[in-house]
Amino acid sequence: MCVTEKAPAKINLTLDVLHKRDDGYHEVEMIMTTIDLADRIHLYSLKTDRIEIQVENGLLPTDQNNLAYQAAKILKERYGISTGVRIVIDKVIPVSAGLAGGSTDAAAVLRGLNKLWQLGLTLDELAEEGLKIGSDVPFCVYGGTAVARGRGEKLTFIDSPPKVYVLLAKPRQGVSTKDIYKRLQIEEMDHPDTAGMIHAIRDNDYPGICSRLQNVMEPVTFELAPEVRKIKKRLRESGADGTVMSGSGPTVFSLIASDQKATKLYNTLRGFMDQVFLVRLIGEKHRL
Ligand code: ATP
Repeated sequence: MCVTEKAPAKINLTLDVLHKRDDGYHEVEMIMTTIDLADRIHLYSLKTDRIEIQVENGLLPTDQNNLAYQAAKILKERYGISTGVRIVIDKVIPVSAGLAGGSTDAAAVLRGLNKLWQLGLTLDELAEEGLKIGSDVPFCVYGGTAVARGRGEKLTFIDSPPKVYVLLAKPRQGVSTKDIYKRLQIEEMDHPDTAGMIHAIRDNDYPGICSRLQNVMEPVTFELAPEVRKIKKRLRESGADGTVMSGSGPTVFSLIASDQKATKLYNTLRGFMDQVFLVRLIGEKHRL
């Protein structure tokens, strides 16, 4: 038997860090939405008791360090499944990009194994298992558009922004999320207007959405990886409707409503960057 699940990437429309907590995590407030840039996860039943990982189009761990492996292990142990599974990851989402590529693969494995192993779990129950793997996994279990608080797991679902184009550019220069958190100066931050963004989305006020795109991690990432700042500047100056960095970067994305403008910008960027994608915002929740 085989089950296939789509694992879409997320972007942050806003990203705010409120304070550092006593447990070491940062209290965040961010608006996330899913986009049509997705890995495909194929799950095949195995008669043996093993979890096997095969990665197509990418260099990723195939052992317990792969988040997809961890997702399978959690469900297998918790529900006493005696058969195994072969997980084939068709990788499309760039790795370490700020697009939650690993988290969405883990979430897709949770949804897919729920079907393959006929566990009958709800999305809420799968999200609870997902949090054991990482803070972004619960959001990725549901998909859609949400305000995420706490360490990213307290989700309030909101309407979706219009399904405009999302042009993503991932610079080569990588950044470490840990380093960025360490360097964040929370007292000196210019915080995003999260409430205003929620209203703009609810009112379908596209210019209002574009003008409120903001990520408090940008200044730190720009310092560590100046190429990211350059890409953002270039996108802003080329007439995109709104531009911001996703997650801890280094991917920068633009929202663009016009067909023509989106294609033109995509072709220009492709001329000098390896990893450029033109997709649509989806913002729809997964169904079981
Ligand atoms: P986030 O936006 O949640 O911070 P990210 O997009 O920056 O995540 P990922 O692509 O999820 O980063 O990868 C981060 C790390 O996770 C990499 O070191 C990678 O090796 C590891 N990893 C484990 N499993 C996966 C997977 N299935 N897909 C991608 N990365 C994975």
